[in-house]
Amino acid sequence: MSEKSVVDNVSKQLFIGGQWRDAEGGKTLDVEDPSTGRVLTKVADASVADGKSALDAAVAAQESWAATPPRDRGEILRKAFELITDRADDLAMLMTLEMGKPLKESKTEIAYASEFFRWFAEEAVRISGRFSMAPNGATRLLTMKQPVGPCLMITPWNFPLAMGTRKIGPAIAAGCTMVIKPASLTPLSMLALGGILTEAGLPDGVLNIVTTSTTGKIMEPLIRDPRLRKLTFTGSTEVGRMLIGQSAEGLLRVSMELGGNAPFLVFADADIDKAVDGAMLAKMRNIGEACTAANRFIIHESVAEEFSTKLATRMGAMKIGRGTDEDIEVGPLVEAKQLDKVAQLVDDAIAKGATALTGGKALDGDGYFYPPTVLTGVSEDATMFREEIFGPVAPIYTFTTDDEGIAMANNTEFGLVAYAFTKEFSRAITVSEKLQTGMVGINQGVVSNPAAPFGGVKSSGFGREGGSEGIEEYLETKYVGLAL
Ligand code: NAP
Repeated sequence: MSEKSVVDNVSKQLFIGGQWRDAEGGKTLDVEDPSTGRVLTKVADASVADGKSALDAAVAAQESWAATPPRDRGEILRKAFELITDRADDLAMLMTLEMGKPLKESKTEIAYASEFFRWFAEEAVRISGRFSMAPNGATRLLTMKQPVGPCLMITPWNFPLAMGTRKIGPAIAAGCTMVIKPASLTPLSMLALGGILTEAGLPDGVLNIVTTSTTGKIMEPLIRDPRLRKLTFTGSTEVGRMLIGQSAEGLLRVSMELGGNAPFLVFADADIDKAVDGAMLAKMRNIGEACTAANRFIIHESVAEEFSTKLATRMGAMKIGRGTDEDIEVGPLVEAKQLDKVAQLVDDAIAKGATALTGGKALDGDGYFYPPTVLTGVSEDATMFREEIFGPVAPIYTFTTDDEGIAMANNTEFGLVAYAFTKEFSRAITVSEKLQTGMVGINQGVVSNPAAPFGGVKSSGFGREGGSEGIEEYLETKYVGLAL
């Protein structure tokens, strides 16, 4: 399909109770193409009343959905997985247009996103409780798993589809209904998914989609609504903290997938070429706009020069441009604000003594392009040591002893993921144990996998998405005591 048809084919309305409908007063919000800065299309801009209608629909559907046989819930997910796979090329084009990432990256995300549906289609039929005898032998203990109830899901712009399917998949499998609010910068992929899930047979009201430009105003009443039972959020730590406060009133079940500041450790014994391959993935996946992006390259002093030179050569050779061309490797950043932030972080690091081996300055012209950049001699006083860069910038720090490297890696409020490259098995295990993160990648630059529990510790949040752990976030354990 052409770019225009891909966009035209998606409904731009709110999806509530199985119906596509305009926002109150017909209000709309603009969706921009970040490679040109021009308006791509408009989508419905929900009001407080629209938000409430979406929750009404989720609440109304909860009881019958919870009673739907697990196999039926699984079959809907499986069908949706197949539909997404069949339409991967069009969905990838849509994602590239609204978010900017190159088509190849969008295709990778579509495959990753759909895998959550396949995985949770299989998990839907594996929900079980247990039966045991009380220690004194007098009673029997029965536990059963039940859906948590209506959920509110709030997702970011950097992975417009996968951050949604990672929540929707387990919620459908568990028998929960939901209201989902995609990021206002990238609502189209989620609206397309609404159409796909309907086609796959999802009953009315199970999934409701609200797009809005006045996010806080629309979300807060929903979070404070006593009918809501769970809040699941992926986004910045700052917003996450505020939402936890709002959720305290209703004592909601809460999952928080928040920001990161991933260390990428390379030890003296590492295979440097393999480490550079890993660094390319850990840094350049999604143009660096990933919570899992390597944010601090912490390299043993004996291999730092070789690693930096090789990384700079690879990053400096990447092809930059509008993501819709198949051979483009680096697209624009998502918006002007993000471009300014990346430029400021680099300027700050250079002012504090860093040198750019490649890149280091925003590109002139249309769109929000920043070139792949490698910085050496970066001071731990640079702001980018503490903050997420969210762009294609690789700052390199050096260490001497293992303990020093690990201490530097842990010197952050965040704890989502860490990467470590070493050929020594015992070092790999020791380092994994000492790193204060929810996930560790050993000799690999990507850890995301639908079959594994994704999530962080410290200011990176709590809760896990994916794996057999993922469905537990949407289930309550009920205990029944049985006297015979
Ligand atoms: P963000 O500003 O926190 O926005 C995330 C979502 O929260 C968006 O849908 C946004 O809506 C919504 N939001 C903003 N203000 C809100 C409010 N007052 N009440 C309720 N919802 C509100 O984060 P972002 O810039 O989109 O995403 C980047 C961040 O997400 C980074 O920190 C990244 O590390 C993190 N992230 C974490 C993971 C993970 O799994 N740990 C994965 C991906 C991204 P609007 O779009 O309308 O503002």
